[in-house]
Amino acid sequence: MSLTLAQADPDVAAALDHETLRQHEGLEMIASENFVSEAVLEAAGSIFTNKYAEGYPGRRYYGGCEFSDVVENLARDRAKQLFGAEHANVQPHSGSQANASAYAAVIQPGDTILGLDLSHGGHLTHGHKLSFSGKLYRPTFYTVRRDTELIDYDQMEEIAERERPKVIIGGGSAYPRLWDFARMRAIADKVGATYVFDMAHIAGLVAGGVHPSPIPHAHITTTTTHKTLRGPRAGLILCGKDYSVGPKPEQTIGKEIDRSVFPGQQGGPLMHIVAAKAVALGEALRPEFKTYAAQIVANAKVLAAELKEAGFRIVSGGTDNHLMLVDVFEKGILGSEAELALGKAGITVNKNTIPYDVNPPMKASGIRIGTPAMTTRGMKEPEMVVIGAWIAKALDRRNDDAALEQIRKEVAELANRFPLYAWRRAQ
Ligand code: PLP
Repeated sequence: MSLTLAQADPDVAAALDHETLRQHEGLEMIASENFVSEAVLEAAGSIFTNKYAEGYPGRRYYGGCEFSDVVENLARDRAKQLFGAEHANVQPHSGSQANASAYAAVIQPGDTILGLDLSHGGHLTHGHKLSFSGKLYRPTFYTVRRDTELIDYDQMEEIAERERPKVIIGGGSAYPRLWDFARMRAIADKVGATYVFDMAHIAGLVAGGVHPSPIPHAHITTTTTHKTLRGPRAGLILCGKDYSVGPKPEQTIGKEIDRSVFPGQQGGPLMHIVAAKAVALGEALRPEFKTYAAQIVANAKVLAAELKEAGFRIVSGGTDNHLMLVDVFEKGILGSEAELALGKAGITVNKNTIPYDVNPPMKASGIRIGTPAMTTRGMKEPEMVVIGAWIAKALDRRNDDAALEQIRKEVAELANRFPLYAWRRAQ
């Protein structure tokens, strides 16, 4: 029991060391990633991983849950305070399980759902045929408009009236603009649907007050906790004030959701992750988090402007949040080639389809770039200008390994000026 990881399992320890170095020396520009604080890391790696705590605080199926209750209550209360919610379930292991639980709380297999098409910025769990959501339910999709690349709410309304979905889902993984929450709620009300908003990408911006909140509009709001919110890898479900649309009048969606998460979708909660969520939510309640969230958006705007200046087309013309989609195919570059070249230059991004893409998802016409992780490391507008220039240069010189290696060295120098974890620096 007393061996260190390096002694007990040198292979895993070596992979961990390499990953630490990779995270430290590269520029993490994947829009869905972030760096948690050391306090969150400590809770996530804690002995709460040893504990079974099926059930909810005060009503557990196991003994010895008094301290599990403490951290789960802290997480629930902080989530409610942070987002102005009436109800919070902090147990979902992931964003996908949060969505599965939200749907199962209000609809039956075979019912129709309406979500944003994956290739227009949606998420797999919003009805894609390979996901539980497209297999269990009857999926229908809305898209963005071809001319503006903004959500087509008229089309959404038309489809909702025709298909009568039981759930309408907002939110996505690659949509750089604001959502019209009120319009979506009006459409849902018109057809008697439950409005679920998946704020996984923007949760930290909502928490930081730099993005409007879906909570007052949606019946159910789901999220991951590890993107802009900067918590551990996990999920969270919230309900605003207007959430009494359960199947029976006396039941609230909150109760249905709790049953839907456990025992509906999951067994024992990951208590170490629930503890880490409590820590992260506590951090997000501090004034510094507002500054952080504002800087994420400011950085994204500068980076998008810089790439535009370098001649790239930005989908929808820019960004209102933490991410942008760059149409690299307009310059004859596949998203997959761009991802590879930038990887060689030490800049991690992901290839991404763009609306009405002519290329398949594994090649794609775009790349998705986000600023949350680099903002956590303290980078601001001047660094975004430099990074924009590197991205443009790396894409231009994508077949020149020497040029990419040179950028990689410069990238590592910059990254070292914005160190990550103290324990890493001490090594
Ligand atoms: N919802 C959205 C909008 C997402 O972007 C993601 C992840 O990328 C998820 C849900 C799923 O989260 P997880 O990977 O934790 O299952």
